[in-house]
Parts: sequence; structure tokens; C-alpha cells
Amino acid sequence: MAKESKHCSFCGIAASASVPMIAGTEGYICEACVQLASQVVSSWGKKKELNEMQTTLPKPLEIKAILDQYVIGQNLAKEILSVAVYNHYKRLKHESSKADGLGEADTNVEIGKSNVLLIGPSGTGKTLLASTLAKIVGVPFTVADATTLTQAGYVGDDVENILVRLLDVADGQISKAEWGIVYIDEVDKIARSPEQAFGTRDVSGEGVQQALLRLVEGSHVKVPAKGRRKDHSGSDTVTVDTRNILFIAGGAFPGLEKHVEKRLMPPKTAIGFHAEVSNPDDKPSLEAMLNATQPDDLKRFGLIPEFIGRFPVLAPLEPLDVDALIQVLTEPKNALVKQYQQLFAFDEVELEFTQDALVEIAEKAIARNTGARGLRSIMETVLRRTMFDVPSKENVSRCIVTAEVVKGEGEIQLVECDTREEPKLQRLSGGE
Ligand code: ADP
Repeated sequence: MAKESKHCSFCGIAASASVPMIAGTEGYICEACVQLASQVVSSWGKKKELNEMQTTLPKPLEIKAILDQYVIGQNLAKEILSVAVYNHYKRLKHESSKADGLGEADTNVEIGKSNVLLIGPSGTGKTLLASTLAKIVGVPFTVADATTLTQAGYVGDDVENILVRLLDVADGQISKAEWGIVYIDEVDKIARSPEQAFGTRDVSGEGVQQALLRLVEGSHVKVPAKGRRKDHSGSDTVTVDTRNILFIAGGAFPGLEKHVEKRLMPPKTAIGFHAEVSNPDDKPSLEAMLNATQPDDLKRFGLIPEFIGRFPVLAPLEPLDVDALIQVLTEPKNALVKQYQQLFAFDEVELEFTQDALVEIAEKAIARNTGARGLRSIMETVLRRTMFDVPSKENVSRCIVTAEVVKGEGEIQLVECDTREEPKLQRLSGGE
């Protein structure tokens, strides 16, 4: 009697040496159908998570309102980013409903991804904006420093490692990582370097841009599974689809502003006795500068046109002046002054900064040219001694930081908590 041949109950293919079957109680399934089923099931998971996110995806206006709680100023950048993030995640919804067979009417409308390029000096909130956005939409977030990246295979941080970190943040869930946000810092410093000495590796030049481009354009990238969930083939790698990852790049692009400004105000650059002296008040607005920025301006920083083309949305950030820095110190939800006040409050001590002290701290940060980034180390220096002494001192109820303290010309005033008497000022000195 002829042996009954096995067929896949799903696609009907006959079993053979190259088409093994898995037997069930009622029939068989071939490897191709297992893989297809696995894709379908994982897409269900993605859709479920996406739908959950979509129900809570805030509108651009709401996104900006939340950003306002954490980031001072930078209104234009906030508006641009709010729209970009909203559209990005709406696009994911559109695509998932398309895959569901819903949204038939607009299946021929392909919405492209709009990665964002943040242009602004160091310490003005670029990373903060990107990370806050990720928190708002509830997606995994990671930061990569473009200057430490190298082409795959070279010593250094492979571009693929960005995805490894994103996957880590997403607790190894690939579908979650695939909707994440990646912030790539210092992209203005990965210029192609024609003068690079012959024979040395192009570790931070065009090779990195090309490698990043592959990621940003959207591709299936294999990354080490690192003992986490592996794909169904049991290999040591997992494949991450970068198509839906939102990439936000940032850089200072020093000199870009002047270049664009020159284009906007050509008559004022005339030389001669009768040349009009340009009035600083005539400075073009940030928005005008943004609109006048052309891809060629960015090419001057050694970025390759393909890379620039992948970041169609530009968002400018302004340097923070004294007033803005004081706001950074005092206003955001986790403002530095609030943080240190909380630290002191644990010891039941009130920490107070006079307005002059705040101005002095802001001015010091400006002198360091590191924007708001320098504020924390200035605060640390100012408060270090007091944070050392005060926990061991009894009866201190208040510490007052004045401008003199910040200048290094005075000491923090300690107020004792004797309720029966007028507050007595006590000075910290070496003898105490
Ligand atoms: P960038 O990426 O532009 O160099 P960051 O976003 O890393 O700067 O800023 C460094 C730190 O300075 C942040 O963690 C934040 O505490 C503070 N900071 C910078 N800009 C702002 C801002 N506009 N509003 C509030 N805090 C800011």
C-alpha cells in the first residue's frame, strides 16, 4: 500500500526532504507557513500596542504644552517637533490600518517619514526636547553621539549599537523599539574629511554618514540578541526594522546663522563711507532664518547630500540668555534650584537664592559657553561646602546664597532656627 503523503494543511505543499512538516493533531504545517503565522501574530501585537498608544497620542498643541513644562523657550523648535512627532505616529496608525484592510480609500497615499534636524548651540535643550518627546508619546528613546560612531567593523561604537541600546530600553521588545526615537548628537562634526591622511580609517567621516544613512532611510538591521528574546530561527541576532524609528539629529552648526543672515541682509554688507550700518534690531527672525536655510548651507559642514535629504524638517534653537537661564534654573518641573532645595529639605533646611545670585550663576554659565549645560557644575561648586557641613550642623534652618557667594567672594549665610529669637546669621568658616 502506498504511504499517505503529508501536505501542509495551510498551503497544501507536499512534504519532502527540503520541506519538513510539523505535525499537529489534525494535520501538518510547513516552515514557510509557521514563519508567516509568526509574522501575522507579531503584527497583531504591534497593532495592539500601537492602538493603545494612538488612543493616548496627544495633539501637537498638547505636546507643546507638556514640553513647555520642561523646556524653557525654543518655541519654534517645540512647535516644529510637536507637529513632526504627531505626524510620525499618526502615519504609523495609518500604516497599521492599511495593513488591517481598513483605510482602503487612501491606500495609494504613501506618507514619508520626516526625521528632524535640530540646529542650535550646545546646552540649549536639543537632547532635552528629544527625550521629553519620547516620554510624552511613551516610546523608547536613546541618544547616540555621532562623533563616537564608526563604520561597522572598526574599533569604536558601531552604528548598529544604537539599535542595541534602543532595544535594551524597550526591554528587548523589538516591536516597541521599532517605534522608538533616536537622538543623534553632534552630526555637524561627522564631516567627510578630504584631508584625512591616506591609510587612516575614515572613522568619523563619510563612512559614518553612509552607515547612519542606512539606518535612517529604513532598513532591516541585524543586531546581537544579547541573551534576550531571539527570533524564531533561534539565531544570535534579531532583526530590527528601522523604517518607523523617528530619528532626530542635532548639531551646533557654528557659523550657519551668520551665513544665512548674510543672504537675508545683502544690502547691509556694502563697504564704503556711505554703507548703511546694520542695525542689530534688523536681525532676521529665527523663522525667517529657518526658511532661508538651504541644504547647501548644511553641505558646508561636510554633510553628504543624501544625509541632509533624510532630515527634511529643520528646527532652530536659540542661545539661552541670562533671563532664559534663570528660568531654566527655577521654572521647569525638575529645575536645578528645585532639585537642590529638595536635597536640603531632606535635612529640614530651606535653601534660598537671591535674585542677584541667580543672575551671577547665569552669567557664569554664559561665560563658559556651554549654555544651560554648565549650570549644574556651577551649582555644585557653589553649594559643595555647605552640602558637606550643614547635615552635621544642628539648628540650621535656612541657607542663603547671594551673588558674592557665587563670585567666590563670600560665604553662604546660615540661619539658625531659634524660634524665640530673631534669626541669627551664622557664617561658615574654617574654625567652625
Ligand atoms: P544640547 O543637547 O542642546 O546640547 P541638552 O538638552 O543636553 O543640550 O541640555 C543640557 C541640560 O541643560 C539639560 O539636561 C537641561 O537640564 C538644561 N537645559 C538646556 N536647555 C534647556 C532649556 N531650554 N530649558 C530647560 N532646561 C534646559
